[in-house]
Amino acid sequence: MAIRQTGISYYGLNYVEHAEKDFQEMLEHGCNTVILAITEFDMNFWYPSIPQIVKKAKEMGLKVLLDPWGIGKYFGGEQVSLFLQNNINNRQVSAMTGEKLPAACFNTNSFRDYFQDFCLKLARDTEADGFFWDEPHYALPKSYASITGGAGEDWTCRCDVCKKKFFDYYGYEMPKMMNDDVKNFRWREALFLLEDTSRKIKEIDKRYEITMCVHATINTYYVTELRGYDKWDMVAASPYFDVFSTTILNWELPLTFFKEITRRTVETAQRYGKQSERWIMNYYKQPEDFSMMDKIIDLYDSMGVDRIAAWTYRGGYGTVLAAPDALKLWDRLGENYKRVLKRQ
Ligand SMILES: [Zn+2]
Repeated sequence: MAIRQTGISYYGLNYVEHAEKDFQEMLEHGCNTVILAITEFDMNFWYPSIPQIVKKAKEMGLKVLLDPWGIGKYFGGEQVSLFLQNNINNRQVSAMTGEKLPAACFNTNSFRDYFQDFCLKLARDTEADGFFWDEPHYALPKSYASITGGAGEDWTCRCDVCKKKFFDYYGYEMPKMMNDDVKNFRWREALFLLEDTSRKIKEIDKRYEITMCVHATINTYYVTELRGYDKWDMVAASPYFDVFSTTILNWELPLTFFKEITRRTVETAQRYGKQSERWIMNYYKQPEDFSMMDKIIDLYDSMGVDRIAAWTYRGGYGTVLAAPDALKLWDRLGENYKRVLKRQ
């Protein structure tokens, strides 16, 4: 077993000839896969360029995965959402206060159609290799952390659509306090849209590969985020996902935490015959000593991770989330990618 895939995310999908130069730089940095972060604005404005950019990346030898980045603020990411701009309804609602939140409710038909059309259009019009589901989540709450005192009691989503679905299934009004029925309802509904969309993508072309990337949280007795995808076994067991991936960890976290998340990621993936993937933080923060990146990548490799990926191209250079030494961090990533690929 060895790491076979070295991915890098990339945004700013404007001109194919500019993307070509960046793809060349990725290849020189040992990347064999590019994860294109496609925003709602890209789809709405730059669309003619997208299939061409995918084609160019493929011609140059990169594997291409499509990330519907931050769509409806349902997926992770900094991008703004046209869906939220154009819809004052179909939003997630706080259970405790009844407030509408700046996040689309993915249980409404309106958002489901919007999201699915977005993905299926890309599946039909491009020659990409797969899709990347990037940190999907219910808005709020951060945690139910009794050990830290400040238990987050609020949760989403208790909109009219969710309430009706809950009532139809369980035969009583969706409670404001989270109980086991609510937990099960949320897990089940959270999975529905991504499974349904993945299935339809594979119907367009069965070679499309789906990576499901969930938050890298411990999910223990004390701290469970309850973002909808925290029951890893339920997620990894889905027949529609090919790769089980867990997100970036901040460089400041202890090595034991990296080990624990990686062990659970690999074990969960293997239990269901899926490939495992771990991420590298290549933006915003950097390790105090860059050799820590070498150690973490060696750790992933030694623990049986199949794929690694980093956010983002050039260490976020030129953005508000650039690492302090963005280009140096990017170069270090490149050295590591080339090093691990040689081991194959
Ligand atoms: Zn809802």
